[in-house]
Amino acid sequence: MKPHSNKTIVIGAGGGGIASALLSAIRGDQVTLFEAHSALGGCASWFRRGPFVFDAGATTVSGVGVGEPLGDFFELLGHAPNLHPCDPGIVFHLSTGKVLRYHRDFEAWLRELEDHFPGLAHRRFWELTRLINRNAWQLLRDVRTFPFTSISDISDVLQHPHHVALVPYLLLSTEAALKTFGLDHPEYLELVNGILLISAQATSEHIPFIVGSMALSYPAETYAPVGGMKGLMDFFEGELLRQGVDLRKKVRVDSFGEGKVGLFSGESVAADKIIVNLPVWNMAQMATGALQKDLARESRAHPGAWGAFTAYFGVAGQFRDTYHQVHLNHPLVKNYFISFSIPGDQGRAPTGMQSVSISTHVYADEAINKEEYARIILEDFQRRFKVPEVKFLTTGSPRTFERYTGRLHGFVGGLPFLYGSNPLSLLSPVTSDSSVFRVGDTVFPGQGICGVVAGALQLDHRLRSR
Ligand SMILES: Cc1cc2nc3c(=O)[nH]c(=O)nc-3n(C[C@H](O)[C@H](O)[C@H](O)COP(=O)(O)OP(=O)(O)OC[C@H]3O[C@@H](n4cnc5c(N)ncnc54)[C@H](O)[C@@H]3O)c2cc1C
Repeated sequence: MKPHSNKTIVIGAGGGGIASALLSAIRGDQVTLFEAHSALGGCASWFRRGPFVFDAGATTVSGVGVGEPLGDFFELLGHAPNLHPCDPGIVFHLSTGKVLRYHRDFEAWLRELEDHFPGLAHRRFWELTRLINRNAWQLLRDVRTFPFTSISDISDVLQHPHHVALVPYLLLSTEAALKTFGLDHPEYLELVNGILLISAQATSEHIPFIVGSMALSYPAETYAPVGGMKGLMDFFEGELLRQGVDLRKKVRVDSFGEGKVGLFSGESVAADKIIVNLPVWNMAQMATGALQKDLARESRAHPGAWGAFTAYFGVAGQFRDTYHQVHLNHPLVKNYFISFSIPGDQGRAPTGMQSVSISTHVYADEAINKEEYARIILEDFQRRFKVPEVKFLTTGSPRTFERYTGRLHGFVGGLPFLYGSNPLSLLSPVTSDSSVFRVGDTVFPGQGICGVVAGALQLDHRLRSR
């Protein structure tokens, strides 16, 4: 038996909450994880329709390399899930008809760029992004006080003077960096903005080059979990059991603060630490005591995030390239992201068929016409991939995400770290209530599963050094 020094409650079994629960248990805490839904994963969850198992939101996994958040996390667990390395990581279909395959091998990716955009300074630009990407991950391993909450947190960077060399890339937008290399050609920008939108949630003029470099490097290291998100979540559920976490599914939390968590059932549970893995807008509605005011202020300062339209269906086929981003430049649908299940992946589709998840960004506060979105996307998809028929079509909107993940207004994708923003304006993992801590994609500004695990690692480090 591990010595149980502390009782920790984690709220929400999305990627951030699962990672925090596991890290707290490894640290020796007695951990309870409350999850409102019957399945784990939140925005990275799954569902079944007929003979198909669909990824509901997230489909790709990245950041599993040595020194990257998921790589570090799996090393701490002593186990890793079964992940299929995708090559190409993502296939980009530009609106002009060009199709670029972002290969794992750097030279192959440069050849692809050179074939489609001859004579440009690809090598110098992409070599720089790779260098910044590597150094930025190292910065996050060395400076565990990010997201910064105070000047003293920032001063931690000064303990590692070599990282100061990254500062200029914080002060330069990705668009400006592209200009410097003569790469601000409209088609090139379309490609770069497509990558940034899925990995950094905004386009090149709004993304500092340090973040842009990390986002642009991610398709080189794309993995598909075997068994889809269900496979990944089954792995995590096994790890929660192994580490002795008390996982309570279908338990909705109503309130938290001052060392207590209130459940929807009316029960109140005491804890030494409460780690909340919910978006800031939800937190603001649930916090009690003095913290409520702080969270309401933060929630107003970050008035929203993207919403998503999603479509799920089964197809007959053996599509080997798992991930595609299609640029349409249609007034309603600028681009959409396709994820095929791995051909032959057991349990995800009947033999000879694949399950497909499609997503596109929408404004969460606008009522969207799902039929219209589905029609535009399906017409293009079926023509492009020569698929005469789709099976078990189901669609999702911000309202669907709100219903299944509880995320207020269906705001998904987290809060981006925008060019020109004050590093101290990021939401902090620690709060004015000494019992309450935070993780999730509105806290750590590098969204996605990799980002929320990075946030959990950062918080864990702070808790270890208390
Ligand atoms: C369409 C789409 C595609 C995406 N694609 C990718 C991708 O390919 N790769 C990638 O890495 N990321 C992707 N993302 C982003 C990624 O899914 C999220 O950023 C990440 O999973 C968020 O994790 P989280 O733990 O912060 O929050 P969430 O996943 O929202 O988890 C919160 C959890 O809390 C639970 N909960 C809510 N309210 C309560 C309550 N009151 N009591 C108890 N439990 C509660 C929810 O049920 C949920 O399980 C995508 C997102 C979307 C929407």
